[in-house]
Amino acid sequence: MIRPVFCRVGVVSLAVGLVLGLGLGLSGCKRLGRKPPAEEKTLPAGADPATRRGANQATDPRLYAETRSYMGTLFRVVIALRGDPKTKAGRLNLDESRRRAVEAVRAAFAEVVRLESLLSSYQAESLISRINAAATVRPTRAVKVTQEVFNLILRSTKLSRRLSGAFDITYAPLAKLYGPARKGQPARVPGPIQLRKALKLVGSKHIVLDYDKVAVRLGRPGMAIGLGAIAKGYAVDSVVSVLRAQGQTAFIVDGGGDLYVSGRHPDRPWRVGIKDPNRPSTYFATLPVQSKAVVTSGNYERFFVKAGKRYHHILDPRTGRPASGLASVTVVAPQATLADALATGIFVLGPKKGLEVLMQFDKVDALLVTTSGKVLMTPGLKGVIKHRPLNKSGKTGK
Ligand code: ADP
Ligand code: MG
Repeated sequence: MIRPVFCRVGVVSLAVGLVLGLGLGLSGCKRLGRKPPAEEKTLPAGADPATRRGANQATDPRLYAETRSYMGTLFRVVIALRGDPKTKAGRLNLDESRRRAVEAVRAAFAEVVRLESLLSSYQAESLISRINAAATVRPTRAVKVTQEVFNLILRSTKLSRRLSGAFDITYAPLAKLYGPARKGQPARVPGPIQLRKALKLVGSKHIVLDYDKVAVRLGRPGMAIGLGAIAKGYAVDSVVSVLRAQGQTAFIVDGGGDLYVSGRHPDRPWRVGIKDPNRPSTYFATLPVQSKAVVTSGNYERFFVKAGKRYHHILDPRTGRPASGLASVTVVAPQATLADALATGIFVLGPKKGLEVLMQFDKVDALLVTTSGKVLMTPGLKGVIKHRPLNKSGKTGK
């Protein structure tokens, strides 16, 4: 069967107990390389009544939640308020706390808008698009960027080295070969000659960074960078800083499934659910988290199936083919930027090498689900994460 679309089957991140899902539901479908619709019409999926009430509401009066569509996905901020709905004084506190939360969330979303306009590959005026445009000419030109963008690119290149090139922001010429699938056209699968040609344009070592001028040049004509595997994590970390500067301490920032969880739910630690890659509308594991990032990369997020084979959106920059071996990788780390890049990189490295590499990162843990349904995790998660066995019959791709 040919399904010529890359389909995001659903993002589900939740604080169980009071589940705060940020699901896109089954209808949240987007195409690789295309800007998604500005507004998601569907309400978040998930098991909790809170998610059914509407994107901007939570059922518990002690929580304030807002969801908006940015960076091709949904961003949700949930803030635990201070106060008690059962007493008069407590209600006054809640009102004041909610007023502050509304302000904080406004600042948080403004930060995402700012970052999207710098980092998006879909906005022609973004610095990333300008760097890419300057590599369509021969010789390629350097582009002056802000220190912030320079630092993020520098950080990406360093992470690329630590992950043996499995995570690499220069992957973009490869993605172009696979689509996007457009109406009436089947999704494309490139042949070896096309791949070989594109692979010559891939490699962070070809990014020329000018520290003095704060400028970036892509060394080879035709090169392009894309921050799809790290920008959301970076945006989440930036939002965390904004919320903290606004005096908020207990909240969840969810950038399309890339989470940062700060402090506690009013009654208990926040808990995060991890999706079953075979049935992405359900969770198979939960994990209590406090002041950490939790990010998942999965082969079920965006994919198409051609001749019985699943082609998903995480590519191995060394072969140009979709990475195989793992169905999902969930990384728990002090920062979402790191967790985002690692989740993608470990996904590409596969279970064995992936777990080896993870050991070299301080304060980082991960849970891996293989395509045959095996669940692997780093020692730090054993006994902390609760999960049910996965149904091995429904394998998630090759
Ligand atoms: P998601 O965006 O679904 O949360 P990831 O964080 O794993 O998932 O990012 C995947 C995106 O990153 C792809 O859609 C693509 O834009 C880009 N990408 C794909 N493969 C790589 C790679 N090996 N290294 C860096 N970026 C990648
Ligand atoms: Mg990532």
